[in-house]
Amino acid sequence: MSRESPAADEESFDRADAAAVAAAHADALSALSAALDGDGAPVAREATGDWRTLYPGAVVTPADDAYEEARRVWNGLADARPVAVAYPTTAAGVARVVETARRTGLGIATRSGGHSSVGTSTGDGVLVCDVGAMRGVEVDPERRTATVEPGVTVGELDAATTDHGLATPQGVAPEVGVTGLTLGGGTGYLSRAYGLACDRLARVDLVTAAGERVTAGPDSNPDLFRAVRGAGGDFGVAVELEFDLVPVPEEVAMCDTWFPVDGADDVGSLLREYRALLREAPRETNVSPYVSRVPDEVGFPDERAGDLALCVLGVHGGDPDAGERALAPFRALGGDGVEPLFDDAARRPYTEVQAYLGGDSAAGDRYYWKSVAVERFTDDLVDLTAERMAALPGDGDTVVVWPMGGAVADLDPEDTAVPERDAAVVLNFEASWSDPADDDEHVSWARESAERAREVGAVAGELPNFSGTERGADAARDVYGDNYGWLRETKARWDPDGVFSPSGRL
Ligand SMILES: Cc1cc2nc3c(=O)[nH]c(=O)nc-3n(C[C@H](O)[C@H](O)[C@H](O)COP(=O)(O)OP(=O)(O)OC[C@H]3O[C@@H](n4cnc5c(N)ncnc54)[C@H](O)[C@@H]3O)c2cc1C
Repeated sequence: MSRESPAADEESFDRADAAAVAAAHADALSALSAALDGDGAPVAREATGDWRTLYPGAVVTPADDAYEEARRVWNGLADARPVAVAYPTTAAGVARVVETARRTGLGIATRSGGHSSVGTSTGDGVLVCDVGAMRGVEVDPERRTATVEPGVTVGELDAATTDHGLATPQGVAPEVGVTGLTLGGGTGYLSRAYGLACDRLARVDLVTAAGERVTAGPDSNPDLFRAVRGAGGDFGVAVELEFDLVPVPEEVAMCDTWFPVDGADDVGSLLREYRALLREAPRETNVSPYVSRVPDEVGFPDERAGDLALCVLGVHGGDPDAGERALAPFRALGGDGVEPLFDDAARRPYTEVQAYLGGDSAAGDRYYWKSVAVERFTDDLVDLTAERMAALPGDGDTVVVWPMGGAVADLDPEDTAVPERDAAVVLNFEASWSDPADDDEHVSWARESAERAREVGAVAGELPNFSGTERGADAARDVYGDNYGWLRETKARWDPDGVFSPSGRL
């Protein structure tokens, strides 16, 4: 049975179509609703940075008032109309959702934190399995592990582990879901020191397309374990994840230093200095330059408001004294002749560092984020990056240079689905805007930037978590590179009917 999501045909699929499909499967959906635990009473999650309301135990269809709320995801560009959104609260409930998908022929889009930039946690004509209400976290400080349910956010996991002086590499926004982030690879401030989020995954339990709960780990279904680390959503619904934890100091050193720039030449010369410093930086040091407009805020010079700046965000995950020493040269880019416009350098609790950028990206705005992994950050690529940084189409757009290397390169490209193990940096072209009329301008800018970087060379794939919104096999080859072949074979073994193919990539 083919379960091609109609997402590619999004213009033509509206609420009435979704309602008609739901009506055709009314019996199966109401049986599912009766089988789920929970009374469907709405639960607001604003306190954890999640703007969503969840309906644990409910199956929401287009006939329900809650449908418009239930179909919403963080990325407003993913404006799709699922046939139903089911909110299981247990692994058994998840198995019932899978069984319903098999009976009805509907494809499943899995949602945990709802922050997919790629837009795959919804889809036209699919059955959404939203496990956001499954939120348990347990830390075992002796074994240095954390066991989490799939609805846990990065902020919730950080809070639980740092209580014991421990952490695991996760992303840099506390409101994002741990599960989607980890199963898409997952880069963060601790990645150069300890690897990608998926590298610290000790095991994951999934409900597979057969409706069975299986464990994927180094010694249990290793083929599945290899695939889910980077391509997770295409192989099943994760219902429990176990992470290895590492020690983090009570306070870590960080800096957020903004340099004035007047055009691409200025940006390029600062990036060249950054490149040289990064080569020598210790693994614990994670420094990421990006561009922004100077805000009209306390701490920034009034007369520079609106000007372009190159911002350098640095975090050192190890000893804070060593961290301050390691970050100092990055805060002094440009030498004596350049005075930073803003320089926030401090020791902060790890959870505060993790929250530093949190909440910056409003839910419901439109996002298209496209990355390219760069093996050698050549002069040509530095110049291209500088050119794109100096000519942003809108105030919400940016280019981020994300450092790789260190522990990320300890694994081989074929060890997980994420192929970019030898990258020096990742260039992330991040377009963010709010008016649908501007979609083409922003998407084209980010897409063209990535294409030009590929033309300039030394590029090996994209980060799955920052891979645009393209669907289909070509997009998958771009993301997974040489891993695409064995991922397809693994997919054929675990999901031969394509129950979990909302992205249409694998
Ligand atoms: C503000 C912001 C900051 C970000 N920062 C970072 C960062 O620092 N580093 C980084 O790597 N990424 C980052 N991302 C990208 C983010 O990691 C991905 O978009 C990720 O998919 C979000 O996970 P989620 O659970 O919130 O999303 P969801 O929308 O719930 O899920 C996204 C996808 O993950 C998969 N998935 C989710 N839950 C499950 C499950 N239970 N079982 C199987 N598959 C599942 C599915 O494929 C799903 O389509 C950021 C995103 C945002 C919005």
